[in-house]
Amino acid sequence: MHEMGIMQGILDASVEAAQNAGESRITYIHLAIGELTQIQVGALDFAFEALSPGTMAQGAKMEVTMLEPKSRCRDCGYEYVHDQFTMTCPKCSSFDIELLQGRELQIDTIEADSETESTSADSSKEAEDSVEEKGLSHDQN
Ligand SMILES: [Zn+2]
Repeated sequence: MHEMGIMQGILDASVEAAQNAGESRITYIHLAIGELTQIQVGALDFAFEALSPGTMAQGAKMEVTMLEPKSRCRDCGYEYVHDQFTMTCPKCSSFDIELLQGRELQIDTIEADSETESTSADSSKEAEDSVEEKGLSHDQN
């Protein structure tokens, strides 16, 4: 299953990018994958579940967008979306076509977090506020 090797590469690149940005945890990974890569999204999900524990991406949400094959005819300039079996231009039947999209394997978005304890910080702030209010009422004596 070559999705394992692909996911390992995606994880390595994501962790490196997050580390370079000074983050400590990856929360979301969005991939854009061309349909012509023949990659199975289910197998990628499985590979992510198997490989992400113990890395910065543990518990992250992963989403995949599949990109339809898209080509441009070099003869008539027509651009069109097609299935993986289309070999000729639908307008002029030329074989001289150029693939524009469909073989991508890229990380589109990575969202990361540096570990913060914002919830406990907020509640301690509230406690300080109420202490100040008591102090004020004492001043009136
Ligand atoms: Zn054409």
